[in-house]
Amino acid sequence: MSKDNKIWLSPPHISENEKKYVDEAFEQNWIAPVGPHINRFEDELSKVSQGFDVAVLSSGTAAIHLALVLLGVKNDDCVICSSFTFSASVNPIIYLGASPIFIDSEKDTWNMDPFLLEQAIVNQININKKPKAIVLVHLYGYPSKIAEIISISKKYDIPLIEDAAEALGSKYKNQPLGTFGDIGIFSFNGNKIITTSSGGAILSKNKEFIKKAKFLATQAREDQPHYEHKEIGYNYRMSNVCAAIGLGQLEVLETRVVKRRYIHDFYKNKLSKIESIKFLNDINDFYSNRWLTTIVLEENSKINSEKIRLELQKNNIESRPLWKPMHLQPVFYTYQAFTNGVSEDLFHRGLCLPSGSNMSDQDLNRVVDIIKNLYES
Ligand SMILES: *Cc1c(COP(=O)(O)O)cnc(C)c1O
Repeated sequence: MSKDNKIWLSPPHISENEKKYVDEAFEQNWIAPVGPHINRFEDELSKVSQGFDVAVLSSGTAAIHLALVLLGVKNDDCVICSSFTFSASVNPIIYLGASPIFIDSEKDTWNMDPFLLEQAIVNQININKKPKAIVLVHLYGYPSKIAEIISISKKYDIPLIEDAAEALGSKYKNQPLGTFGDIGIFSFNGNKIITTSSGGAILSKNKEFIKKAKFLATQAREDQPHYEHKEIGYNYRMSNVCAAIGLGQLEVLETRVVKRRYIHDFYKNKLSKIESIKFLNDINDFYSNRWLTTIVLEENSKINSEKIRLELQKNNIESRPLWKPMHLQPVFYTYQAFTNGVSEDLFHRGLCLPSGSNMSDQDLNRVVDIIKNLYES
């Protein structure tokens, strides 16, 4: 590859069989939101998800939306949500006319702080507005403090939605993320660890939930020869063509995870010699797919994260600040937040490095050398 090839943050990485399955779909004329590849993709996803029932959908956002509908979230309800996340975790709460309550992060995993979570719940119960659900995000593929969060969810009897959009292939105590909550969701957007170009999935141990999700995702059409509707539906089903891509991608999920973890270790080996660059440490039992490798610059670092980002950009390399917390987003200013400064601080000091599983060692060295040079000059 030439020195000037663009290095993207997390581009699609297609393997050998995707095209074959898509050709199959074309040959069989299943160019529709029904078809054999959808069924096969759901079966294969189920196999890597504790045998849970799965419905594949048009996006991860659609999956969160349906999860909230299934849990009965309505106008004027409140729903707890991680603050350190992408806006797609929150938007569906607003679609339903409910209000998000944002919970800040703890420092070990950067995910929802169980202490603040409990504080928020108690506070809401005291004003007689018990939250309807918890949307827990595993950011950058790193598992949250699941044991603590589940025990709080059980203690107060509030259902848990696991937003594992970034965490397909991650595990906690050897159990895949997405299978701990009452409902889990994945995303297969173009930038995620595997992609269907655009797409998502909803999964649950509760078969009724998934049956209902499929019904709602196909316009809530009753089982009648004519079109009969008793409920409001959505057009949220995945296309069979996209499912064909997903089938091929799922076959290589494990190798993609191994490669992303290799990329993380590569950066860590080469960059942690620079004292002011810090990485998120590994914790026993927490197995991250390392969707994106993230670094955080020490307060006193002579180079800040924006300087690194601009220097990489000058060299045709894409990097990105960490997610800007939802409680700091203008569109969500008016909603309640339980904060401790952790996600805000991470946002100001952190950076996502290019982490695509199709990066070569040469690409990785290009990124590393640019960062090292900044410190040495
Ligand atoms: C990507 C993402 C989503 C949304 O998934 P889409 O498939 O893009 O709709 C939701 N939550 C998080 C944390 C994400 O990163």
